[in-house]
Amino acid sequence: MTMKAKPKGTPAVPRVLVVEDESDIAALVAYQLTRDGFRVETARTGPEALEAVGREIPDLVVLDRMLPGLSGDEVLARLRREPATARLPVLMLTAKREQEDRIEGFELGADDYLTKPFSPRELVLRARAILRRMHEGAGISGGRVLRAGPLRLDVDFHRSSINDEDLDLTPTEFRLLQALMERRGRTQSRRQLLEKAWSVEADVSDRIQTRTVDMHVRRLRAKLGDIGAWVQTVRGFGYRLKVPEGVE
Ligand code: CA
Repeated sequence: MTMKAKPKGTPAVPRVLVVEDESDIAALVAYQLTRDGFRVETARTGPEALEAVGREIPDLVVLDRMLPGLSGDEVLARLRREPATARLPVLMLTAKREQEDRIEGFELGADDYLTKPFSPRELVLRARAILRRMHEGAGISGGRVLRAGPLRLDVDFHRSSINDEDLDLTPTEFRLLQALMERRGRTQSRRQLLEKAWSVEADVSDRIQTRTVDMHVRRLRAKLGDIGAWVQTVRGFGYRLKVPEGVE
């Protein structure tokens, strides 16, 4: 088996935990990821997945939704609740095609979503894209710290704080805030925010765009406390970060 050269900007031999009870699919995904230079561990059930993460936090989790023991949704919810894994990138797999599923996946804080049947090649591409976003700050070359008053966003290290107190943002919330801070004062549509923070392609309906973005904005505002009011709704268009006058 030949190992391909690693693209720049991704960590040395990223570790992926594949959580899937269907052994054929798990084997195929593991094979493709290994071939592409990932180090792969597998788990067959929800509890096994949490145990594996507890032993060593991987760089990415590929998480099937339908699992024995604990569902993928529950595993994801538990990962998001723990500070150590709140930002752990998760690519969710589902057998169901309903759009409603996509919404739920995003609401739970999955970084990306693949519907079965999928091509293993596509899974690898998505996995790479998630890790790139993680390590390059949404594809923008690094070393950047964004500031707005007491709010600070370290794009490279995915750290966010207010008055040096760490914020507990999910990867999606982080990228949403990053998108708002990068275009400070300018209004962005929900589609623009979706593309920036979720890497969702244009096949998402307006209804899902609205519901997904609005819900994450609400959560982000809540986590920002008083500063949450700076995230303004621009009726009929989208959102902007409006920093009060006199604030640097
Ligand atoms: Ca399954």
